[in-house]
Amino acid sequence: LEKPSMHVFEEMESEVRSYCRSFTTVFDKAKNARLWDKNGNAYIDFFAGAGALNYGHNNERIRGKLLDYMLKDGVTHSLDMATGAKERFLTRFNDVILKPRGLSYKVMFPGPTGTNAVESALKIARKVTGRSTVICFTNAFHGMSLGSLAVTGNSFKRKGAGVELSHSVFMPYDGYFGPDVDTVKYMEKLLDDPGSGVDLPAAVILETVQGEGGLNAASPAWLKSMEALCRSKGILLIVDDVQMGCGRTGSFFSFDDTGLEPDIVCLSKSIGGYGLPMALTLLKPDIDQWSPGEHNGTFRGNNLAFVAAAEALQYWANDEFRKAIELKSRTVRAALERMAARHPELQGEIRGRGMIQGIAFAEDGLAERLCQAAFDKGLIMETSGPRSEVAKLMPPLTIEDGLLEQGLQIMAEAMKELAE
Ligand code: PMP
Repeated sequence: LEKPSMHVFEEMESEVRSYCRSFTTVFDKAKNARLWDKNGNAYIDFFAGAGALNYGHNNERIRGKLLDYMLKDGVTHSLDMATGAKERFLTRFNDVILKPRGLSYKVMFPGPTGTNAVESALKIARKVTGRSTVICFTNAFHGMSLGSLAVTGNSFKRKGAGVELSHSVFMPYDGYFGPDVDTVKYMEKLLDDPGSGVDLPAAVILETVQGEGGLNAASPAWLKSMEALCRSKGILLIVDDVQMGCGRTGSFFSFDDTGLEPDIVCLSKSIGGYGLPMALTLLKPDIDQWSPGEHNGTFRGNNLAFVAAAEALQYWANDEFRKAIELKSRTVRAALERMAARHPELQGEIRGRGMIQGIAFAEDGLAERLCQAAFDKGLIMETSGPRSEVAKLMPPLTIEDGLLEQGLQIMAEAMKELAE
């Protein structure tokens, strides 16, 4: 089958378009972890909307609830107003997610995107502490608005701002200097030293695994000692779980098994269940010091997203889903280990955890070539990392076992081609 023409996109879309340049076709249909283009070519989706489709494309359980809601003329858009759909979402979020974990958070709807969640988190942390700087990490990714970009460690994207990005101090993430340097101690020393030039910040913002920054995973011990450092100095801890949350690493919150209790948590991407735009900023009750209307936006009341999100949370009502993700994660790990072992000359290093793993290559360009070769064989996957050096897999968590194996097989074939 031939690929459809890309003419309209090349003619009309801004040069800023990115992913579509490597996926040179026009997609028209999607089901769980499958995509089809206009000409009927089938693809396996190991990209999953950059983490927005953890429950797959056109999830039937969620779609059923959406169709039912629409057919009954449910309210679709309501800004900040109270609606039945929002009430059902909040109640379920409390019953299925917060209560069983013994967590207490106020829920803020900051706008439709992950960037909105981060922006609101940075603002409230500054308001609550009365301090202006925020500590962030090498290779972090938190969003494209000026505030969130200021805590994003990607110089190419930072340049796009056109202004100086300020009020952020970058510290080395876990493992940045290799396994022997304790970067929490390093940071503590800088904070304690009156000569270091590092002021006491309002907050520390971190990802538990850096999704865009190269699949760097912080160890639970690093996260716990970072939390302890924050507590000892009165610094607020913000965990950006926009990409790693909603099950990507195997549990609903990426920090579930660490005992971490962040002051603020940012969620988006898959919280909207069906790929619908939605974000949450979770605030410890004493941090919720907003005055009414102090931070708002038109799209905080997408009731279709509330309906989809409430149904998606049902996946977390028991342990079955978690167990299934765990098994699939092991399948991915084993396959990546086999690929790396088969081609030692490519010097691939396996990174990530749960259903976000990949292979980092020492040589520039290899990961991009791997993803391109995979696409030519019908597998969609993306690169990550500051030099696009990581070939990253993040299929829907609901992917069928057979299709997961098939996708991994295609990746292995693409890797073999690379080695030839
Ligand atoms: N934080 C993290 C960790 C992300 O991965 C992303 C998106 N890749 C964002 C924030 C920004 O989210 P959005 O693109 O929805 O604004």
